Amino acid sequence: MSSHLIQKFAPEWATTQDLVQFTQRLIQTPSLSTQEGPVAELLVAQLKALGFPNVRVNAMGSVIATLGNGNGPTLLYDAHMDTVEAATPEHWAYPPHGGVIEDGVLYGLGAIDMKSSLASMVYGARELLPYQDQLNGTLVLAFVVQEEPCEGLAIRYLVEEDGLRPDFVLLGEPTNLQISRGQRGRVMFKVSVEGKSSHGSQPALGQNAIYAAARLVFAIQLMADDLPKDPFLGPGTIAVTRIESQGPSLNAIPDLCKVYVDRRLTLGETVAAAEGQLESLIRRESIPATVQITTYREPSYTGLVRVAREAHPAWVLDRAHPLVAALYQTIHAVRGTGPEIVHWPFSTDGVYTMGEANIPTVGFGPGDPNLAHTSQEYVRLEDLKTAAHVYAGLAAALLLRE
Ligand SMILES: [Zn+2]
Repeated sequence: MSSHLIQKFAPEWATTQDLVQFTQRLIQTPSLSTQEGPVAELLVAQLKALGFPNVRVNAMGSVIATLGNGNGPTLLYDAHMDTVEAATPEHWAYPPHGGVIEDGVLYGLGAIDMKSSLASMVYGARELLPYQDQLNGTLVLAFVVQEEPCEGLAIRYLVEEDGLRPDFVLLGEPTNLQISRGQRGRVMFKVSVEGKSSHGSQPALGQNAIYAAARLVFAIQLMADDLPKDPFLGPGTIAVTRIESQGPSLNAIPDLCKVYVDRRLTLGETVAAAEGQLESLIRRESIPATVQITTYREPSYTGLVRVAREAHPAWVLDRAHPLVAALYQTIHAVRGTGPEIVHWPFSTDGVYTMGEANIPTVGFGPGDPNLAHTSQEYVRLEDLKTAAHVYAGLAAALLLRE
């Protein structure tokens, strides 16, 4: 598709005003993970009001809108409706749910992660509504639940239970309007260190689980510098993120200490190898401990429970893949300059779409990814418009017959 055709999908001034207002309303509607119901309702109402022909909510509570006739390729735009909790409310210069606009900037929880993207996808896809008969393919918008606590969970449900078969996936997680084509994997380990309880006045009669856990923590810290490195994704990492001990009372020797370990896998590292590595470290140090991968089992706001192991692979889409090229050309046509090609520091739904299901996946979204999960989330209004234009342009480039 020529760049002047992509330019014709630029949202008009009035549309941009609506897009900004809708993003504000999304921010003003709280949507913690497992409590996305009100935001889902808002999205459904807005999609219907804008004239989307096919809008539904699945059993898990994700919102799905489809455009096109089922022939040709399917392009999936994926964004999550949930946010994390607002960290330390008194650190926010503007209230997290205020949706305050000042000097062309919109502030609030989810401005980055990722309500700007939800809104831009809706208004980008809207530009294609007049061309539905000329679509040679299908555009699916999937606004999913529970991504923050368990990436991949809701998008897996859409593919494996609802029968969605995308050929290409675009994730709207923030990239600062650049292209992301990968991320490291993530595993959450729980290491249970065993001890033996005794009276606190006679520690020699027991075995202190905290002391054994301390040896483990130190060994993990030492190991952190020696993890494999990938030239694009960087090194794997390991970090102890929580310690919980257990014993009969404060004047007793604890007989259990749980150590939680956040492990990021770079390309080439596997979940099994990371688990084996931790186990051999425990053996080497003679620590009485067992290693488990944690599971996620919170019910969605509709009451559906999907149990998932918290182990997700790294993934990278080839730089030369046609999806990267199409996104690059679209951004170039919209912005007049080529984007950088980067990777996300954090984890996304790509762990399922590309990491497990092997569906070509890229990322593009408004906002600075470094502001996600901070008290400084904001988005430039100009970037909302650019994102909507790119979302419209990419769908046109891949699905519209000229
Ligand atoms: Zn996110």
